[in-house]
Amino acid sequence: MKSDALNQALASLPAVDRVLTSEAAAPLAAEFGRLALTDAVRAALDDMRHAIRQGGAVDPTPEVVARFAARRLADAARPSLRAVHNLTGTVLHTNLGRAALPPEAIAAVVAVASGASNLEYDLETGRRGDRDAHIEGQLAHITGAEAATLVNNNAAAVLLTLNTLGAGEGVAVSRGELVEIGGAFRIPDVMARAGCRLVEVGTTNRTHEKDFREALDNGARMVMKVHTSNYVIEGFTAAVPEPRLAALARDHAVPFVNDLGSGTLVDLERYGLPHEPTPMDALAAGANVVTFSGDKLLGGPQAGIIAGHRDLVERIKRNPMKRALRCDKMTIAALSAVLRLYADPDRLPERLPTLRWLTRPLAEINQIAGTVLPALEAALGPAWRIAIIDAESQIGSGALPTRTVPSRALAVSPAMETGMQSLEALSARLRRLPQPVIGRLHDGRLLLDFRCLDDSGAFVANLAELEPAP
Ligand SMILES: *Cc1c(COP(=O)(O)O)cnc(C)c1O
Repeated sequence: MKSDALNQALASLPAVDRVLTSEAAAPLAAEFGRLALTDAVRAALDDMRHAIRQGGAVDPTPEVVARFAARRLADAARPSLRAVHNLTGTVLHTNLGRAALPPEAIAAVVAVASGASNLEYDLETGRRGDRDAHIEGQLAHITGAEAATLVNNNAAAVLLTLNTLGAGEGVAVSRGELVEIGGAFRIPDVMARAGCRLVEVGTTNRTHEKDFREALDNGARMVMKVHTSNYVIEGFTAAVPEPRLAALARDHAVPFVNDLGSGTLVDLERYGLPHEPTPMDALAAGANVVTFSGDKLLGGPQAGIIAGHRDLVERIKRNPMKRALRCDKMTIAALSAVLRLYADPDRLPERLPTLRWLTRPLAEINQIAGTVLPALEAALGPAWRIAIIDAESQIGSGALPTRTVPSRALAVSPAMETGMQSLEALSARLRRLPQPVIGRLHDGRLLLDFRCLDDSGAFVANLAELEPAP
């Protein structure tokens, strides 16, 4: 553009005030406030000046400026943390917030979040109470433990338990269980931060009773077992049965702690799923203390549960670190509501989203895929081929890492050989939807697994907002 024409185009843009007093701006001022609107109009005008200098043509009316400003305001008002559609096929996806809460838990959160509660107040005596009291009875009843306490997550539960029962002492752990859980949680590092000395026992694939006895005879003051949540060791292996570990620990008068990781509170086999160790199993097998997550297979809020012998749990609760790791009232309310659902295991798969999705009939998932297929074809256009395929869902969060559950997915691939680049661009467009859609790239296709989709109507409506292909 010649400089005369350029200056003319720049000068044709309306002044900030003219946009602010335009009819198009009035509803924006009412919704977002005058200050935010003024900033957005300035920014929109800057963008338009930039576009003109790049040789673009813009329509210099107050209405168009207001429209650009409106888009900026809407973007800025949208929360960073928001709901997405998890179509990855991984039910408990750590990066996508793990377990979804049942309506009962959400109602319980709302009830305590919107006002005062008896969080640490004993309604019986009118005196100061204990926040653990709200869940301890339920946890004891379900797990068979004498006592229980709650912290922020299972990593905190492990840290607090180790620090209370093993600080300054040697803690014996099998070499086959020195695990790293995603997000830089490594047993040896946590052990060090808890002030314990790690006593590695046995070898990676085989650990024997005599190895543990030797460690205890040499002064280790705690025995720890860690559930190898995210891998399995196969082949020539040996591990010491839990009752034997428990007997060894008892003989040496030291605590035996079992970190279960996921720790489901029901036997999953009754729902046709593979067995995962429960806190009840671990306590019955002789563990003095067990630790597990609230938001893995349990299906509740993020929390770490410590359950076991009363004297040990009381010591753990008296550790000053407990105060730094304690849970919020919303977490306690949600967990308590979820635990109430466990009173009726028969109805649990209907009521607890995690279990409902894990046990969802294949025919139902297939039906959702069939409903979504034409809408997705319409949204994507002829550049994409979409087919309903067999897929494998994962439980996720380290539970049962080698077991998958048969599922159905839509597989999206480019109609012509355009390669991975266009597939990634499509994934990015789906992530920019009002409710972002997160699928999984596999074998040159984008897979959308519908195991965790409840409302296909809302999903289809959301698809209508897909931005056009570049
Ligand atoms: C997941 C897991 C943890 C960490 O639990 P968070 O609730 O994520 O903090 C610790 N130990 C094991 C064995 C786990 O599987």
